[in-house]
Amino acid sequence: MEKLVKELLQYGEVQENVSFRTMTTLRIGGNARIVVYPKNILALTQVIREIKEANASYKIIGKGSNLLCSDDDYNGVVIRLDRTFTDHYFDHEFCYAEAGCSIIALAYEAMKNSLSGLEFASGIPGTVGGVTFMNAGAYKSNMADVIQEVFVFHDGQLDWMDVKECAFGYRTSIFHTHKDWIVLAVKMKLHPGKEEEIRELMDQRRARRMSSQPLELPSAGSVFRNPETRPAWQYIEEIGYRGKRIGGACVSEKHVNFIVNKGNASANDFLKLVSDIQEKVKNQFDVELKMEVEKFNWQTK
Ligand SMILES: Cc1cc2nc3c(=O)[nH]c(=O)nc-3n(C[C@H](O)[C@H](O)[C@H](O)COP(=O)(O)OP(=O)(O)OC[C@H]3O[C@@H](n4cnc5c(N)ncnc54)[C@H](O)[C@@H]3O)c2cc1C
Repeated sequence: MEKLVKELLQYGEVQENVSFRTMTTLRIGGNARIVVYPKNILALTQVIREIKEANASYKIIGKGSNLLCSDDDYNGVVIRLDRTFTDHYFDHEFCYAEAGCSIIALAYEAMKNSLSGLEFASGIPGTVGGVTFMNAGAYKSNMADVIQEVFVFHDGQLDWMDVKECAFGYRTSIFHTHKDWIVLAVKMKLHPGKEEEIRELMDQRRARRMSSQPLELPSAGSVFRNPETRPAWQYIEEIGYRGKRIGGACVSEKHVNFIVNKGNASANDFLKLVSDIQEKVKNQFDVELKMEVEKFNWQTK
């Protein structure tokens, strides 16, 4: 890994032994051996080449707002785009944004350009890459509603993929089945609106989030996907798990589909709580709650 660090230094900022506690909103996890911030696309392609030559593994992360990293150290490379891939351009009703842009900041920029369409995303703490991977959404809208094309690095090639090729669905996309593909940028189509009206809608939504989500504590947002039958929170409520705590992980009192880190929660605390909920809901309702939060760097899946 020492040799790989030296090679990567040509292509961007490199950090060693960085805790996932500082790279995820849940503030949980062991250390990543190497973290690299490639300077640009050319550097990124070289970073991938070097990692492959060193037979190392890699994981691209955005703001880490949907990740549950294990307590183990990760002996691979974390690639981050949120410092260098942050350019965005507005051209009439189109917005071109690089993968490292904060979607919250972009929603505000769109508003200042009197463009509507990203209001739903103005409280989602992810990057353009992460929200595209997840097809993140809220208030019955999601990224697939605004994305027209995705600029992707895959199999050594740069390619603009049409939205129809991206297999967007409920919190999913083609990128879930091609974990080595890298989203570099997206082209979005917004529509003209009135800045004041867009601001008002965003303000209302922020107020709603602040009153219904435990934003004062570390979390990864909704833990479980909503099954087709009923929203996940109703099942968690009915098994009596509001406020249930294991170690430092606790089902939020404010929003029962959030598990918050009350301080020094381990990944195992969090996962134990998840498994308990899944088991109880299965036994009581014969419903399988699936995690929306992604587990990363666990020995067993
Ligand atoms: C308080 C809070 C509120 C939330 N509210 C919502 C909500 O309303 N709606 C919602 O959908 N989600 C919500 N989330 C969850 C989370 O913000 C989203 O899932 C978001 O899409 C994750 O983006 P990220 O950049 O943090 O990705 P990360 O968590 O860093 O990564 C998630 C996945 O995306 C992949 N990825 C990231 N960047 C790239 C890239 N450039 N190319 C390829 N793959 C990439 C990663 O490898 C990983 O598999 C919330 C989370 C929190 C903490």
